[in-house]
Amino acid sequence: MQLTEKQLEQIRTQVARLKKVEGGFYAKKLEGINPEDIKTQADFEKLPFSSKQELREAYPLGLAAVPEEEIVRIHSSSGTTGTPVIIPYTQKDVEDWAEMFARCYRMAGMTNRDRIQITPGYGLWTAGIGFQLGAERMGAMTIPMGPGNTDKQLQMMQDLKATVIAATSSYALLLGEEIQKRGIKDKIYLRKGIIGSERWGEKMRSRIKEQLGIELYDIYGLTECYGPGIGINCSKGSGIHVWDDFVYFEILDPVTGLPVPEGEVGEITLTTLVKEGAPLIRFRTHDLAAFIPGECPCGCKHPRITPIMGRSDDMVKVKGCIIFPSSIEEVIKKVQGASSEYRAEIDHVDGRDQMTLYVEVEGGVDRAEAAIDIAYHCKEQLKMTPIVKVVGIGELPRSEKKTKRITDNRF
Ligand code: ZN
Repeated sequence: MQLTEKQLEQIRTQVARLKKVEGGFYAKKLEGINPEDIKTQADFEKLPFSSKQELREAYPLGLAAVPEEEIVRIHSSSGTTGTPVIIPYTQKDVEDWAEMFARCYRMAGMTNRDRIQITPGYGLWTAGIGFQLGAERMGAMTIPMGPGNTDKQLQMMQDLKATVIAATSSYALLLGEEIQKRGIKDKIYLRKGIIGSERWGEKMRSRIKEQLGIELYDIYGLTECYGPGIGINCSKGSGIHVWDDFVYFEILDPVTGLPVPEGEVGEITLTTLVKEGAPLIRFRTHDLAAFIPGECPCGCKHPRITPIMGRSDDMVKVKGCIIFPSSIEEVIKKVQGASSEYRAEIDHVDGRDQMTLYVEVEGGVDRAEAAIDIAYHCKEQLKMTPIVKVVGIGELPRSEKKTKRITDNRF
């Protein structure tokens, strides 16, 4: 995406400000760079990247780019491994985030007459509170449930006639399955769902749609960059409009760090344009997606990316073949009777790499036939054949949080 004059000006201003922060994270990183020299796209592309690891090393408050008295809140990314990243927010950052999030709700056709049941977690995590802020900004009634307690969730959903559900894809699926099981679908008033913080396939989408009978929207974001709400798809397709008046998106080759041609998959790299508490310059997200060329039929001028196709670090190499979760989903989509749920395990056995693929199939499906079918499509799509294990619906673990679908036991 070509930087506009305005974006370049915003970046120059931000670089100049960051360089003045005494002992600041970017003051060190941008040493020797004169903001006035950032005149073109090529100049911008010479700025150094920042990585999650570097952000982590700034723990606890090394990323703060404003005086303490201007910081009103911190959030922290889920530190699955070691030290978390702490992101300080100013009042303006919190308001900008709410504004972007409200824009997401409106893009999804929601209004202040909606009742939004929020199931992601509140707290250090940016999920629950982001959904909350955006809904309040729009003026909708929120039902701030937080995660878990499915009985209570379903009770509130019925009694308060919730019209929108905010959830991770796996929790939305779990709620959909429960509603079916309990036979209470006619008591549910949901019309739309916003699904965040997890990459999910077409098959899972259609199962949730089917079971809940709702329209689904994909929200994008990450704690390092406000939180969820920096982009969402519109009603004209799965392309995610991103708010390029707040955040500049690049899509880069994960290996070379150079921009990929428009339409090709690469790593999303983010630069904030107006963030105060902890701005980002060329932050490598590890999320994989492509820009969608051309204008969206919905008329919205904000650029579009594809849904997230995977993480550059989820990518595994088995027998010389590169495999993404999304490529396994492509396989499963083609198999009749297969659900959206799968797990892949990669092991090193007798000196050779081996992938075992567990797939849930519906009752009544011939399991042996399904296994052969899956193996065949793997060979076609992934250029390798895993050991296929077919299981019944509900046998693979469901989770309220992010689901890890590929486990690499080799290292
Ligand atoms: Zn659109």
